Amino acid sequence: MDCIFCKIASGEIPSKKVYEDENILAFHDINPQTPVHILIIPKKHISSADEITAENSYLVAKIFEAIPEIAKSASLSNGYRIITNIGEDGAQTVKHIHFHLMGGVKMPEKMA
Ligand code: 5GP
Ligand code: ZN
Repeated sequence: MDCIFCKIASGEIPSKKVYEDENILAFHDINPQTPVHILIIPKKHISSADEITAENSYLVAKIFEAIPEIAKSASLSNGYRIITNIGEDGAQTVKHIHFHLMGGVKMPEKMA
């Protein structure tokens, strides 16, 4: 499958990693939109949050278990925002589920 985040997960495409374990990987977004902009992915391919099932939801749980540690290592003690875009209307450009961890600035209250 021609998936850029699968290639990042396998190491075929390099990334600036901030966290890794057997199931998940976190790395800096190549085009940061906030002072801290980290992407967190499962290494296993899931297309989007619309494809979460009882079989793969443990990977989403693993991501959310790692988020406090990743946020702490990025010094986001005053809060942050987690976003996942889904499909065309959600403006998802990479079809491998990922969670944007954004912070280092006061986020706008309006989200869309
Ligand atoms: P989406 O729009 O799908 O929610 O977010 C995709 C994100 O992936 C974008 O913020 C984009 O900058 C980032 N991105 C796309 N290609 C690469 C890449 O090759 N490396 C890294 N580190 N980030 C990427
Ligand atoms: Zn993938």
